[in-house]
Amino acid sequence: MAEGVRAAATVGEAARYGSLLLAHALRRPREWIVAHPEERLSEEQRAMFAGLCERRGAGEPIAYILGNAGFYGREFFVNGDVLIPRPETEHLVDEAIAFVKRRRGAVSVLDVGAGSGAIACSIAAETAAVVVGTDISETAIAVAHQNARRLNVADRCAFVHGDLAEPVHGRRFGAIVANLPYVPRGDLPAAPDPLSFEPRVALDGGSDGLATYARLVPQLPPLLESGGLLLLEAAPPTIGRLQRMLQSAFPRYAIEQKHDYAGLPRYLKAVI
Ligand code: GLN
Repeated sequence: MAEGVRAAATVGEAARYGSLLLAHALRRPREWIVAHPEERLSEEQRAMFAGLCERRGAGEPIAYILGNAGFYGREFFVNGDVLIPRPETEHLVDEAIAFVKRRRGAVSVLDVGAGSGAIACSIAAETAAVVVGTDISETAIAVAHQNARRLNVADRCAFVHGDLAEPVHGRRFGAIVANLPYVPRGDLPAAPDPLSFEPRVALDGGSDGLATYARLVPQLPPLLESGGLLLLEAAPPTIGRLQRMLQSAFPRYAIEQKHDYAGLPRYLKAVI
């Protein structure tokens, strides 16, 4: 417990982490712990709990330790091969869902750099859309498949391995979304920062944070159906540059900066 507490900033956080880790070690729901204060821990359970606290104490994000992250009201399996889905990305999912629901008929959606599949699976779970996700990481694709099965959307949500939009070359989509790696390389922190536990390939946006988007944007115009929607998440300081990049690829589109929960410009919305 002491190790776990070291990584917690407040008493509330320490209490929450402690009970989450204990519940995980005992393979019981958190409510069971509250209801059974007298229950004795076995030697094995004590060692297990101590091990989990140690990992948290070294800075590892709780989502990786538990193998679980909440996103858009659902539980996703996550491990160190995928970025942990962030609440700020839920706005982008809201927009995508609203667009799909407004459209009559089946909408196909592309999620470039799908990672855990949190965006793609959420859209598939909330709508009748057919969703395709791509990712350069084969281990991330395996996680995304697992999430699609877990959420019962595997029949409408496929994941393919490959660089950016290469695996879907020649196809067209009614909506394209992406949360590509966008952290400027110089801003990537070292351990024990929680970000250092996440895959570099999911975060590293090159020296200016836009290297991956600079490769993706020219691939996009032939992939988007006319009247289609584009949603791209980026870092607040780089979003203006991404907007200009996108505007020159889509001169007839209206491109808007949209804000996250913290009021920071977090993603671009492009519609015609
Ligand atoms: N939102 C993440 C962060 O700032 C970065 C995600 C990404 O690079 N796509 O921690």
